[in-house]
Amino acid sequence: MSPAPDSALEDLHREIRACRRCDLGRTRTNAVPGDGRHHADIMFVGEGPGYHEDMQGLPFVGAAGRFLDELLAQAGIARADVFITNVVKCRPPNNRDPQPEEIAACNEYLLAQVALIKPRAIFTLGRFALATLIDQKLTAISKVHGKAYRKSGIVFVPLYHPAAALHNERLRDTIVEDIARAAALLRQELAQPKAEPEPRAQPKQLGLLDIQ
Ligand code: URA
Repeated sequence: MSPAPDSALEDLHREIRACRRCDLGRTRTNAVPGDGRHHADIMFVGEGPGYHEDMQGLPFVGAAGRFLDELLAQAGIARADVFITNVVKCRPPNNRDPQPEEIAACNEYLLAQVALIKPRAIFTLGRFALATLIDQKLTAISKVHGKAYRKSGIVFVPLYHPAAALHNERLRDTIVEDIARAAALLRQELAQPKAEPEPRAQPKQLGLLDIQ
């Protein structure tokens, strides 16, 4: 099937920039739909915009973003080749956790982005993206980080959030290793034909491709 025209994603992002579905729409400066290649093989999904992202309307441009850039470079991934977004598209005031109703209000946008971009792999950053995209029951990121799951024909790899790893040497080493192995896994995945989604897809931990 030919890829969706880029204008569909641009239309969606225009809608997100004007969104008032939840209260975050009243407190944000700019909504942050996401940024990157429209038909990227990899999507990164974080938690929600912080101060700098809210000011610029772009994801991961503050300290956590600079660290993410370093991680990508070390794993041999060009930022321009991936698509980066968040579970919630507007900054929660004072960087508090996004609330369930805010995540629910934004979920349709995130799923529409995945449907239009059609990535081969989604790397989730932190526990909110893990629970929202992979499985509500997978809440302990310490147990599942770096493992690979296949769901709806997409490989999901939960990673620690770069902001958590930024000031913690142990987590820093872990996220560097996880992302490098996830990149290697993706290269292996790209060498194979694209898996068709299963009819009733439950997340399935990968056997052969498991990067544990
Ligand atoms: N943290 C996130 O989760 N997302 C951003 O865009 C920036 C920081």
